[in-house]
Amino acid sequence: MARIAILGAGLGGTILAYELKDKLGKNDTMTVINKGSIYSFVPSNPWVAVGWRERKDITVDLKPVMAKRGIVLKDQGAKRVHPDKNQVELNDGSTVDYDYLVIATGPDLAFDEIPGLGPHGNTDSVCEVDHALSSKVNFDRLVAKPGPVVVGAAQGASCFGPAYEYVLTLDTALRRAKVRDQVPMTFITPEPYVGHLGLDGVGDTKGMVESVLRDHHIKWITNARITKVEPGKMFAEEVNDDGTVKMAHELPFAMSMILPPFRGVPAVFGLEGLTNPRGFIIVDKHQRNPKYPNVFALGVCVAIPPMGKTPVPVGVPKTGFMIESMSTAITANIDALLKGREANAVATWNAICLADFGDSGLAFIAQPQIPPRNVNWSSEGKWVHLAKIGFEKYFLHKIRRGHAETFYENLSLKMLGIAKLKQTSIQP
Ligand SMILES: Cc1cc2nc3c(=O)[nH]c(=O)nc-3n(C[C@H](O)[C@H](O)[C@H](O)COP(=O)(O)OP(=O)(O)OC[C@H]3O[C@@H](n4cnc5c(N)ncnc54)[C@H](O)[C@@H]3O)c2cc1C
Repeated sequence: MARIAILGAGLGGTILAYELKDKLGKNDTMTVINKGSIYSFVPSNPWVAVGWRERKDITVDLKPVMAKRGIVLKDQGAKRVHPDKNQVELNDGSTVDYDYLVIATGPDLAFDEIPGLGPHGNTDSVCEVDHALSSKVNFDRLVAKPGPVVVGAAQGASCFGPAYEYVLTLDTALRRAKVRDQVPMTFITPEPYVGHLGLDGVGDTKGMVESVLRDHHIKWITNARITKVEPGKMFAEEVNDDGTVKMAHELPFAMSMILPPFRGVPAVFGLEGLTNPRGFIIVDKHQRNPKYPNVFALGVCVAIPPMGKTPVPVGVPKTGFMIESMSTAITANIDALLKGREANAVATWNAICLADFGDSGLAFIAQPQIPPRNVNWSSEGKWVHLAKIGFEKYFLHKIRRGHAETFYENLSLKMLGIAKLKQTSIQP
């Protein structure tokens, strides 16, 4: 009999729970620990922020689904992981003992690292559905009283696609409200060039993103470090390649949405050997922590070194397809260990991304995510917007059903099929 604990029931933790449950014996137990029992489809948050989705459209109560699958869901949240004791301490003082622990907590959003940043300060966020809902209130105010907008990501963010998605979705929503002509827009990012995405670009994302932003009258500032945000004004430094300040910017805004720096969550932060200095979980190629080999990790909480040196820190994104491949590898590895075999499965870490622009979009496939790649393909068009709507519906359907097996793998194959139909080239 083995006791499996999964910490976090977001995208990674939920698909892992469904996938791994299928492999467990009837005497093995699975406990999922989450903050609350509601699964929220994070990729739809930019739509929530402009009123195209409501909370109920993108959330699923996991309690009945997991109960049906024989998974215990503890919704108190974890206070601290104690890997030396093979135990997780929960926020209500109770504990969960485990033989194997999988950490899937996503990021801690480090708004406090930049004075005035975040929903409790002077900027909006789309990282959580609650943030997106409060941003919608500011969107309505903007439509009623238009003014300049500043959108982007802070230094240390490891997710850039959603910032591009949001700025272009906002552009579409403001055009529909017939006030876009009164809203000057600036995109600000630590990336060395727009379309870098923390991946040093994929296919021609540099050229495509530049052209899309130009087409939509959105100015941009790259190599940027935000120093502070006051009500209605952002202060930022644009730096040279050697890190010296090239230009200081003061950007007035009527509304601003900035993705914050990411770090590991407090429940694991500072655990020697388990986490790196930013609190991300250290794993080997089998998604396994070297110091605590019964602890695995997947998703945004995993430590991945940046893709080369950049003047301002730019983190590597962990997107759905990559997270699914981590889930598949962890499932195979825990299954092997339970059967007395070696844990030798390796995640592919492929990336597939559909970045919606409100009425069009940009898609890319990076196999593997870290260059040099076997597939390095990007494409743009209305079909991406439609594909993203289909993707949202299909994924939420799987979460409600309690099965999410190789979802992204199937989507990737379909996208490669679309690419062939469109006769776009896929470089070997
Ligand atoms: C706005 C946005 C849009 C995105 N769009 C896309 C996209 O279109 N395509 C794509 O591939 N990727 C996208 N991503 C990237 C990525 O796929 C998502 O961030 C994804 O949700 C990450 O999954 P995760 O499981 O690592 O973390 P999350 O989904 O954030 O889940 C973490 C879970 O852990 C829980 N947790 C945290 N701390 C504790 C604790 N102490 N105790 C218990 N539970 C805890 C949280 O409550 C949460 O339920 C997007 C990211 C953002 C922010």
